[in-house]
Amino acid sequence: MRRVILKAVEGRPLLRLTTSRSYAWTGQESLAEDDPEMWQLISQEKRRQMEGLELIASENFCSRAALEALGSCLNNKYSEGYPGQRYYGGTEVIDKIELLCQKRALEAFRLDKELWGVNVQPYSGSPANFAVYTAVLAPHDRIMGLDLPDGGHLTHGFMTETKRVSATSVYFESMPYKIHSQTGLIDYEKLHESAKLFKPKLIIAGTSAYSRLIDYKRFREICDDVKALFLADMAHISGLVAGGVIPSPFDYADLVTTTTHKTLRGARSGMAFFRKGVRSVDKSGKQIMYDLETKVNQAVFPALQGGPHNHAIGGVAVALKQAATQEFKAYQQQVLKNAKAMSKSLIENGFNLVSGGTDNHLVLVDLRPRGLDGARVETVCNKVSITANKNTCPGDKSAMNPGGLRLGAAALTSRGFMESDFEKVVDFIAEATAIATEVKTKTNKLKDFKAFLETDEDVIAKMAQLKKAINEFAIRFPMPGFSDH
Ligand SMILES: *Cc1c(COP(=O)(O)O)cnc(C)c1O
Repeated sequence: MRRVILKAVEGRPLLRLTTSRSYAWTGQESLAEDDPEMWQLISQEKRRQMEGLELIASENFCSRAALEALGSCLNNKYSEGYPGQRYYGGTEVIDKIELLCQKRALEAFRLDKELWGVNVQPYSGSPANFAVYTAVLAPHDRIMGLDLPDGGHLTHGFMTETKRVSATSVYFESMPYKIHSQTGLIDYEKLHESAKLFKPKLIIAGTSAYSRLIDYKRFREICDDVKALFLADMAHISGLVAGGVIPSPFDYADLVTTTTHKTLRGARSGMAFFRKGVRSVDKSGKQIMYDLETKVNQAVFPALQGGPHNHAIGGVAVALKQAATQEFKAYQQQVLKNAKAMSKSLIENGFNLVSGGTDNHLVLVDLRPRGLDGARVETVCNKVSITANKNTCPGDKSAMNPGGLRLGAAALTSRGFMESDFEKVVDFIAEATAIATEVKTKTNKLKDFKAFLETDEDVIAKMAQLKKAINEFAIRFPMPGFSDH
């Protein structure tokens, strides 16, 4: 360590001479110089990302341009408040950046600024959702969201029989709706029935592990019937929406939240959109206006957050500019094609898919008919550089040992993978699954299964061979974002 620091100082004699500091550190040392241990770890992670097959449906590879904004001096600035109304000085540039991000957000989703507004300050998707709840609900108000084991998100109110797991279920009363166990589709009829009885103030349409399109019109009708507000949480699919390759929730929702780092491929952050303008006209012809703008903005700041993450807002703005291009549309079209190719190939390889296929960027493999589960297949996949995650399938009892594996196409499509490459990816998954099957017959509990993978020489050799083939395959593809490999 000491040697490295000295070297850094020797490299900058002028700076050293002109500063009156009594210490050598200037803050201009590179990461490699300043913190070789962290630099090493980040290099390892880079390598892992480049050599592996990234199939986690919520992940993507952000552009170098967006990463540059993310790693910029914008990190340094406090700017509590909103453009033009800040609690700090020196925000004239930050104001421009936030306004640019807002403008690009509306443009990326083709929204009229008279009808929609957006708050780009939420730190991520979960805080964006909580901001919306804080804006439009009072404590103990009722909400309905898709149940977590059925493909919903924690923040939509998840609780178990014994525990209110999500803070959403602690502060609000939540009733889930479910997936139809036969079709694998959202059970709209049951949702409607429950909503009539439960009378929620807010209904949420949004999913983390659902491979079909959402019927936003149907949600709107149900919301109108029970006088609920309609929130669409498009966290997973916002890139596909921006690309215009799947239906947009903006046609029907009152509020829309999203992450910015999943299919949208930006810096890690969140956004909350709200309707503006005339909400309805009453019998006497009087216009009733939406009141969501002030409520959402006040919920984000000062109710929930402090200083905006301006570096993230900068990185999101860069990604939103990209999201408005033809190239981005073409990318999203390819994501859909690749997910379909993966789905077709999986079926040909004897896998069962929840709902039988996909209309978006992900597939949910139901491993139960093959006598397997998500945890075992995920573990083998991880050992051979295929990154995917276990997921509950409709009807699963345990979230710790769920029957499904969730596979997304967005990240590898960003590396230029085409349909035939995804067929190859499925071949690798099939090989990993075969190993899981073999080891399962020889072991009992998941713990034994994992121990066997660590100790059995035959299996270790088999996995090493598969990993090598996968690494050699993956490394050939370009990697957005990294300038130095
Ligand atoms: C990922 C996700 C979120 C949460 O986003 P974070 O950035 O992880 O907080 C919220 N809703 C849905 C539907 C998601 O898939």
